[in-house]
Amino acid sequence: MKGFEEVVQFHGHVCPGLAFGFRVAQAALEAMGERSLDEELVAVVENRSCAVDAIQVMSGCTFGKGNLVLRDYGKQVYTFLKRPQGDGVRISVKWIAPPEDQEMTSYWQRFSQGDRSAEVTRAIKAHKGRKIQAILQADTADLFEIRRVKEQLAEQARVYPSIRCARCGEKVMGPMILMTDDRPFCRPCTEMEKGVKS
Ligand SMILES: [Zn+2]
Ligand SMILES: [Zn+2]
Repeated sequence: MKGFEEVVQFHGHVCPGLAFGFRVAQAALEAMGERSLDEELVAVVENRSCAVDAIQVMSGCTFGKGNLVLRDYGKQVYTFLKRPQGDGVRISVKWIAPPEDQEMTSYWQRFSQGDRSAEVTRAIKAHKGRKIQAILQADTADLFEIRRVKEQLAEQARVYPSIRCARCGEKVMGPMILMTDDRPFCRPCTEMEKGVKS
């Protein structure tokens, strides 16, 4: 399994979200166990936060390969499924950060009021570092609610003949074409056509 370093390198910075994603992927890969060669792992993510970058690196599920599915619900929930059977795990983040002390609260207040002094910046950075360490070291059971699920995902065809947009002349994947007055348009041009007409 890949280490946190590799995840940070891909993402470009260290942050609590990335640490969560790393722990989610670790827990998922452990729970899913070995996969046979004809099985494909699919990750369904319910947000587009920093965490998703860790999941891509760790699980190898990416948009380009078509095995990373975004359901943009703004929830910290991640489901990993094996194709074709559809067996998998659903991981929901339940961790609550330990409460901040008075001193930290006042630093946050100063920070939100625009105070970027060395003292405030240092305190915020140190606090973030402690949070990341806490996430990396927490017990899996304290971080997540994990349950077994079964969900059959439709295998999506990914190669379509392209059609030229009647307005911009650019090629568009067949199913994404919208017809207006019997002429094919790409999405942006459909918006423009509507604008011209109204
Ligand atoms: Zn980040
Ligand atoms: Zn167009």
